[in-house]
Amino acid sequence: LSPVPSDIEISRAQTPKPISQLAQEVGLLPEELEAYGNTKAKVHLSLLNRLQHQPNGKYVLVAGITPTPLGEGKSTVTIGLVQALSAHLKLNSFACLRQPSQGPTFGVKGGAAGGGYAQVIPMEEFNLHLTGDIHAITAANNLVAAAIDARILHEATQSDKALYSRLVPSVNGVRCFSPIQMARLQRLGINKSDPSDLTPEEVRAFVRLDLDPEKVTWQRVIDTNDRFLRKITVGQANTEKGHARQTQFDIAVASEIMAILALTDGLADMRARLGRMVVGSSRNGQPITADDLGVTGALAVLMKDAIKPTLMQTLEGTPVFVHAGPFANIAHGNSSVLADKLALKLVGEEGFVVTEAGFGADIGMEKFFNIKCRTSGLKPDVVVLVATVRALKMHGGGPNVTAGVPLPKEYINENLQLVTDGCSNLKKHIQIAHLFGVPVVVALNAFKTDTQAEIDLVCRIAEASGASAAVQCHHWSRGGRGSVELAQAVKEVASQKNHFQFLYNLQDSIVEKIRTIAQKVYGADDIELSPEAQAKIDYYNQQGFGALPICMAKTHLSLSHMPEKKGVPTGFILPIRDIRASIGAGFIYPLVGTMSTMPGLPTRPCFYDIDLDPVTEEIKGLF
Ligand code: ADP
Repeated sequence: LSPVPSDIEISRAQTPKPISQLAQEVGLLPEELEAYGNTKAKVHLSLLNRLQHQPNGKYVLVAGITPTPLGEGKSTVTIGLVQALSAHLKLNSFACLRQPSQGPTFGVKGGAAGGGYAQVIPMEEFNLHLTGDIHAITAANNLVAAAIDARILHEATQSDKALYSRLVPSVNGVRCFSPIQMARLQRLGINKSDPSDLTPEEVRAFVRLDLDPEKVTWQRVIDTNDRFLRKITVGQANTEKGHARQTQFDIAVASEIMAILALTDGLADMRARLGRMVVGSSRNGQPITADDLGVTGALAVLMKDAIKPTLMQTLEGTPVFVHAGPFANIAHGNSSVLADKLALKLVGEEGFVVTEAGFGADIGMEKFFNIKCRTSGLKPDVVVLVATVRALKMHGGGPNVTAGVPLPKEYINENLQLVTDGCSNLKKHIQIAHLFGVPVVVALNAFKTDTQAEIDLVCRIAEASGASAAVQCHHWSRGGRGSVELAQAVKEVASQKNHFQFLYNLQDSIVEKIRTIAQKVYGADDIELSPEAQAKIDYYNQQGFGALPICMAKTHLSLSHMPEKKGVPTGFILPIRDIRASIGAGFIYPLVGTMSTMPGLPTRPCFYDIDLDPVTEEIKGLF
């Protein structure tokens, strides 16, 4: 239709096919499906075993140029591409998307189901609670937080003997260690299974984690942009006997548990990773883990359904897995290894899996390659790099835009100079993908204000900058048939051999790895470590955590750490303010510049427009 109706109107106008029918079409057995209503279902991981001898399909990553408020449309391109591959080129294809966070849905950005005629439906279910994975992560994360503060209080207020009798209670006159406690005894080097055999020193070592309240690194999380939780004090009630301490909330999708969900390959591995999560250190400098707190089994129970990807569909009835979460700036921000692996088996050798990495190629894609592909062992065949004429104009020096104010004329009228200048950003992102040896197809997501001369110019510059192909796509206004040219280009480039490689070796020092990313990917002259960051690096090295990959927390709005610097900033030193270690997820997590792990709400958040019709139960205002 012209004009294109709103995202939610388009979504609602299409009746999704029953999820059981879609499951059958993609080759799932009824017992491999757990329906949540008629339009979404969890998929059992046993499928991986059943299809283990099936060859994988082609693996396509969608990434973008540096985001601007004018939008690039990565999710929209992802959906448009699978709609074109499936419905128009008749190739099996699957999209793997991340579950949106309610922070952006109610804050600035809105939902993430794609847009126009390239969407996941029903978009309101996709954008809101879905099948509860983010709630499960929040519950698990905050159980760890509660366990930490309660444990500090109990240890501070009870004798060794009292702690021991409560931790190892006598049932019918018999005391016995739980399996989790036996494991802790083993870690302490105490090889005794009878609780009455422990010496007083061993009892003391066993009952006291001696967590240093100043060195707790675990934060509480919530899936809301709530800036007032960036710094809080807990334990102020009298009942906590003065054990108040300062801490903070992060947005739920930045929880280490989300990263574990994205990177794990099954229940046993997830449980082991949850147990390895370091929550802080003891007064004598020993790392304290979720296993030490005895909480690992409960976390695995809370996460047992979240580990299964959720099956949904596009507007054209093609399959989508939704799993793991966004925020490639402050988190790992890629969809899950499990969803990608299941989809690669389901599409078969001739098929395509299109997965999305958050924000620009400098963060989402860099983490996709260096962290996710290293963990999964999967090799991508092609990168689709999404750009828009409008965003390139802003990188070329176009004026800033303000929400609610009409766009400046530069973004409405043809301006070849701004486009040419802004293509420096596109060129840099193509070069970043080439650092990993993967070919690039540039997808120019066309807006109705683009002129043919602007579109042709971008495609010419992209190809001259080394892209294997550069095509315009019109899925937003036309659905899959608007992206057939992109699908054909992807099919062709994916069939060529590539030489995928990682950017750094795990054995390089932590500082070298951070410097490699800063210089080769961001274009920094060097890095500068704060004293806190340096002290943490020394500590992590001493604890044997040095050989992990790096997950940078950096603004998505610039290749540098300065959000206002568009295009390709040069001549800067990247400041590393602090470093955390996500040992369960398996990465070191440097915080760059002033990057916050809890977003805030703008003056006019998206929630102003969201409402419910009490009679029809229809949701309005989501986009
Ligand atoms: P990203 O994944 O890069 O954050 P999305 O695909 O979620 O971006 O798109 C962001 C918003 O921009 C959506 O509301 C979508 O409807 C809109 N959008 C995307 N492409 C176009 C287009 N070609 N024309 C108009 N609006 C678009």
